Amino acid sequence: MSAADDDLPDLDWEPRSDDQLYNPARKVEHPGSEVFFPPVPNGLDYLVSVGEHLELGDERVSARDLKYAVLHLAAGAEVLLKARLQLEHWTLVFKDPGQAKRSELEAGTLKSCGPEETVQRLKDIAGVPISDKDTSALLKLAKHRNALQHYGLIGPAANARAVESQAAEVLDFLIRFLDEELLPALPAPEAENTRADMEQIRGGLSRIEGFVKKRMQRIRADLEPLRDRTLRCPDCDQWALIAEPDKDRVSCWFCGSSQPPHDGATMYAMFVLGRDPGTPDLFGIMAVESCPDCNEESLVVGARTADAPDEQVFFCFSCARAVPGLAHCTRCFVPFRPREGETTCRNCPGSVAASD
Ligand SMILES: [Zn+2]
Ligand SMILES: [Zn+2]
Ligand SMILES: [Zn+2]
Repeated sequence: MSAADDDLPDLDWEPRSDDQLYNPARKVEHPGSEVFFPPVPNGLDYLVSVGEHLELGDERVSARDLKYAVLHLAAGAEVLLKARLQLEHWTLVFKDPGQAKRSELEAGTLKSCGPEETVQRLKDIAGVPISDKDTSALLKLAKHRNALQHYGLIGPAANARAVESQAAEVLDFLIRFLDEELLPALPAPEAENTRADMEQIRGGLSRIEGFVKKRMQRIRADLEPLRDRTLRCPDCDQWALIAEPDKDRVSCWFCGSSQPPHDGATMYAMFVLGRDPGTPDLFGIMAVESCPDCNEESLVVGARTADAPDEQVFFCFSCARAVPGLAHCTRCFVPFRPREGETTCRNCPGSVAASD
């Protein structure tokens, strides 16, 4: 709980009817003004459903179950994260809090903040600790939900193993978030009413984690000798993405997703590094570059391999290895292999390699 929660009023609940349960603008009185207490039970209901849809495990779960698992997980995450924002202040769920209108919140017609703003505000304003890993899992889920709504079952949303792996990650975060941030703010009788749902959600999570663990155990021995070219998979987040130069593809041995090297590098930059592959960072450095060894646009800057996960490397998805001896040109910021004392690449004016 953040320090700000000390300021929360004692919430005094009116008796609840079923239609109030799903009313996003349920009103609760407290001295001085009014707050709208957000619909935690609604969010819990979505999470219970995720466990039900994934109950059978990756071999037998249907396409329809996958679809609703992703949609309900995303909906549950959104409802619960926004519930916490509303506890901080009701205007924070508006896209532009400065333009917030109570009447729009009550009518449910508000233009609400997107997933990125939600997570950012929770961290910056509500002081909720959300790790980089959890942030990227939540944002990825929101992207998959959008893709699923617009294009149907494609990519990771069509892949039972990837969905299970992601669901395990997000549910694990949301259960902690509920325990630490939301349930303690509920009045005792309301908190008591969440108990059965929470038990079911925890049960669902441990079942899903069981599938993930079992599959990971099955492939562990095969992955072991390849640790220096094993990366985290952008689809399922497992350390099981293998660059396979003989096939000219990168493939995940956990979830089965597979792309040509350049596409794999782009996906990795977007979903593992959280980088837009077309935009340089603050230092002018791009996440995907041309490899000085093979000349393919498949060199990921700042990748990590399973044998040294704390170390950032230049990893070429075409060469299928961490490319040693590279540095960024101090002038054009492109990776190159400097000879002694060189700081700029051979394409830049003033390169000290002009002597050769
Ligand atoms: Zn995968
Ligand atoms: Zn290469
Ligand atoms: Zn240069």
